[in-house]
Amino acid sequence: NLRQPEIKRTKTVCTYCGVGCSFEMWTRDRHILKVQPVPEAPANGISTCIKGKFAWDFINSEKRLTMPLVRDNGRFREASWDEALDLVARRLLEVRDRHGPDSLGFIGSSKGTNEQAYLVQKIARLIIGTNSVDNSSRYCQNPATKGLFRTVGYGGDAGSIEDIEQAEVVVIVGSNTAENHPVIASRIKAAQKLRGQKLIVVDPRKHEMAERADLFLRPNASTDLVWASALSRYMFDNGLADMAFLERWVNHVDEYRQSLAPFTLEYAESMTGIDRDDLVEAAETIGRANSVCLLWAMGITQHSHGSDTSTALSNLLLVTGNYGKPGSGGYPMRGHNNVQGASDFGCLRNMYPGYEKVSDPDARKRWAKGWGVDPEQLSDKVGEGNFLMVQSAEQGAIKAMYIVGEETAYSDANTHNVHSAFENLDFMVVQDIFLSRTAEFADVVLPACPSVEQEGTYVNTERRIQRAYKVLEPLGDSRPDWQILTDLAARMGYDWDYTHPSQIMDECARIAPMFAGVTYERLEGWKSQQWPVAADGTDSPLLYTDGFPNEDGKANLHPLEWQEPEESVDDEYDLMLDNGRMLEQFQGANQTGRTAGLWEQVPNGFVEVSPELAAERGIEEGTWVRVSSRRDSLEFPAVITDRVRGKTLFMPIHFGKPGVNLLTGEHNDPDVQTPAYKETAVKLEVL
Ligand code: SF4
Repeated sequence: NLRQPEIKRTKTVCTYCGVGCSFEMWTRDRHILKVQPVPEAPANGISTCIKGKFAWDFINSEKRLTMPLVRDNGRFREASWDEALDLVARRLLEVRDRHGPDSLGFIGSSKGTNEQAYLVQKIARLIIGTNSVDNSSRYCQNPATKGLFRTVGYGGDAGSIEDIEQAEVVVIVGSNTAENHPVIASRIKAAQKLRGQKLIVVDPRKHEMAERADLFLRPNASTDLVWASALSRYMFDNGLADMAFLERWVNHVDEYRQSLAPFTLEYAESMTGIDRDDLVEAAETIGRANSVCLLWAMGITQHSHGSDTSTALSNLLLVTGNYGKPGSGGYPMRGHNNVQGASDFGCLRNMYPGYEKVSDPDARKRWAKGWGVDPEQLSDKVGEGNFLMVQSAEQGAIKAMYIVGEETAYSDANTHNVHSAFENLDFMVVQDIFLSRTAEFADVVLPACPSVEQEGTYVNTERRIQRAYKVLEPLGDSRPDWQILTDLAARMGYDWDYTHPSQIMDECARIAPMFAGVTYERLEGWKSQQWPVAADGTDSPLLYTDGFPNEDGKANLHPLEWQEPEESVDDEYDLMLDNGRMLEQFQGANQTGRTAGLWEQVPNGFVEVSPELAAERGIEEGTWVRVSSRRDSLEFPAVITDRVRGKTLFMPIHFGKPGVNLLTGEHNDPDVQTPAYKETAVKLEVL
């Protein structure tokens, strides 16, 4: 039979960044013929970036895991699903019974589906009895969420990508949007060109959006809280604060205003290095605009006081009345495609799905009732996040870990300690599509399916829940995450009997008020819903139009003080190292790295050195240098560029088996324990 199989067109959602582009994937057999964005796609329309278009070769990689692996005498051997799952179930329960529920830690995937996240936390909370469950938001945007909880009440973007497009002024702070959220950057560029939208960029690094900005401010590292607070003070002092909004909707205005006393323009100029006139121009532009959207990302959050700085940015938006109206609000740009969803659906140490506190007796009772168990079975003790879980593993308090789709051995700070923590565990399970660096430490590896081989839902950065359909059948004996977790639960005595992920969503919607009206039918095809979703299906593209989700319906201004970063330069480690992502790759490149064309774009790692530092140290383009922190060293060729300034270096995070986290340290934000990846003091030697 010479007939070619039919070409199939299936809607799916990109699993590379928080924009959440959706598109049709054209396939014949297992061949992906093309990725076609369509006008109906809610977040991206007819746009995608290079990753969404081309970074799919990993699906058919020979390196995909297709059978469970069990460690035997130090080496992996293939095993049946029955053997592997029985072993996992038995060992997890043994550890729980011998050492107690809190001796286990669970990490759900921020790339996997919402249904996966829901089941990971359900197993942790209901079967094991611990709240030590988390996802990679701990490593990126937890500080932003903390800042939003302190001020406005929801841990998500205030509006939609459309609001960003509509805003009179967009402010981008600590976000390389053109490389990390490319489709949002394109929409801002279009708004600049077509509508004259004003763009202010605040960043130590001169990236593409900084070059395109109407005003580019380049603060000294770790001083963003100072300029943001100085702008808030300027608004009050110069009649630009929205007093009617503050009076109607905001608590603690006087107390907050008093706390701004130190943040004069002179102080801000001396601390941040930003010229006073530029600060005034930024304040006047923001203060006089009808609508302002403020976007921020890891350049703010991956610092030792990222929660405070995120709070300061949200304070500024409140002072200027920029919440609850179209084209306004705070937008923490979510990095992983489903870091929002993994948090929304309960992979957090202190919250059930829908952000209900585990310490709230009413929420605990409702979840216990929804799951058909006694409330006493659910712990009211806040668990450990993934960063502390790893430290507890090193100290021996955590004995077993279950990690789904996260490359913790590469992405957590100070990888030396992470590796020794994993070696210290009694039992470790990794559920993934490749034998990742993390999986190399496991006792059992369970082969999961990528997004295109399973059904499920995802939440993008604008709180938009979207469905992805099964494009291809699972490769080999790999299985969808929700099936693996359901089967595991059954072997631990809980027969949940889900036969389709929609049943998992239905269960969550029945219990969590935030998702009351979410159904697979309402998400059919290109339809989507932005949480919170009322029982009748009404969703919330723009938050805070009728007040804030606090008891009195008001937001809270939150007074702050600037604090020194936890790590800084000295005579030996005299430079600061910044790091981040590039357009062509994603994180440790486990997936994007298998598309040859993407590596060809940027085949090697490098370190960016400023022209002034290069001149001082006699470094030329391509000179190999050794960059050493107080932890370890890496060697890369130098790229001399004014994207960085003075004594700051920049290194992309995608290169090298140990990668940049060989250099980063364990100092972290005390509010949320997010490592201060962007605060690494280093020295540089020419090789
Ligand atoms: Fe869209 Fe982000 Fe995927 Fe690019 S990586 S296609 S911007 S979701």
